[in-house]
Amino acid sequence: MIAPTVPVTVAYNKDPSPIKLNLGVGAYRTEEGKPLVLNVVRRAEQMLVNDQSRVKEYLPIIGLAEFNKLSAKLIFGADSPAIQENRVTTVQCLSGTGSLRVGSEFLARHYHERTIYIPLPTWGNHPKIFSIAGLSVKTYRYYDPASRGLDFRGLLEDLGAAPSGAIVLLHACAHNPTGVDPTLEQWEQIRQLMRSKGLLPFFDSAYQGFASGSLDVDAQAVRIFVADGGECLAAQSYAKNMGLYGERVGALSVVCKTADVASRVESQLKLVIRPMYSNPPIHGASIVATILKDRDLYNEWTVELKAMADRIKNMRQQLFDALQARGTPGDWSHIIKQIGMFTFTGLNTEHVAFMTKEYHIYMTSDGRISMAGLSSQTVPHLAGAIHAAVT
Ligand code: PMP
Repeated sequence: MIAPTVPVTVAYNKDPSPIKLNLGVGAYRTEEGKPLVLNVVRRAEQMLVNDQSRVKEYLPIIGLAEFNKLSAKLIFGADSPAIQENRVTTVQCLSGTGSLRVGSEFLARHYHERTIYIPLPTWGNHPKIFSIAGLSVKTYRYYDPASRGLDFRGLLEDLGAAPSGAIVLLHACAHNPTGVDPTLEQWEQIRQLMRSKGLLPFFDSAYQGFASGSLDVDAQAVRIFVADGGECLAAQSYAKNMGLYGERVGALSVVCKTADVASRVESQLKLVIRPMYSNPPIHGASIVATILKDRDLYNEWTVELKAMADRIKNMRQQLFDALQARGTPGDWSHIIKQIGMFTFTGLNTEHVAFMTKEYHIYMTSDGRISMAGLSSQTVPHLAGAIHAAVT
């Protein structure tokens, strides 16, 4: 059996240097470098503990009904016609990963086209999840290293050449690892192309609210696809936006053309889930439902969420300013243009190896850094290292 390892963090942990810096972690850290449990999560947990009527019985196969309803509302919008017309089926899954896995197992069994197109590059787990589920994985161009932005023409060409009916994985916002998202106008063009070819959108929404600080803004791409009445899938994670990483709480929604299809899809999803893990865990979903259904808790959540997003944006600005102040060669404006937790710096494997060896800074070898792992105190150290690496 192969032990699951996070090589960057393993190497970081072994480094005795007092100035070491781990920018490989995919989780939020405070200015002090500590994991954060949201205050609103603590409050919701306290309410759950105080409620003596709560028991630990099994949830149904598809999870907590209230959680499912509220999750669909969160991503598609409170006034979504698809929800009102009962065309959406939502099942609670094990965070984003589990939602993607259940969705792709379902598609591999029941959907007529078994090829999924994923962006190049993408989150490292995507190809594994989809191929293990039985889908054939192909890529579409996404990132342009020269501009450190979107290869929009390449994306349209590749999706335009995909067989009609193919599945297309889209990052709903804050593309991981590049931090590069299409503009709303570009999303609209992608939508038109995909609908004209009958391509099936499968959204991965791991960062709603975490990217821009607004839950609605970060759901815009998903919502323009749902607004046209067509089908799509969406995998939601509460790991980042509620800081519920280890609780493994997420949801898979399938938007169908009719209520009848939605209810048949739900039956099939149950058949996928039952032999996989029977039913999902209760605690995380109860926390999320408690927060989403209570106006005060919901509002408190949006404030805390925005504070996390703002801290990350602030780190981007500080790093950019520090490089400018040093006169570091090259254009570093992508640091403030990209969004979400990660910056795709454009540093190559040699730069990364140099920075790790000489400055004890750890990141993935593709040059991706987690902005959440930075603080005002560590920005100068990183800027100094980047400067030395590229000059
Ligand atoms: N999709 C993307 C793009 C991600 O970055 C992540 C987390 N790194 C996930 C899905 C899933 O994470 P989780 O299973 O912890 O919700």
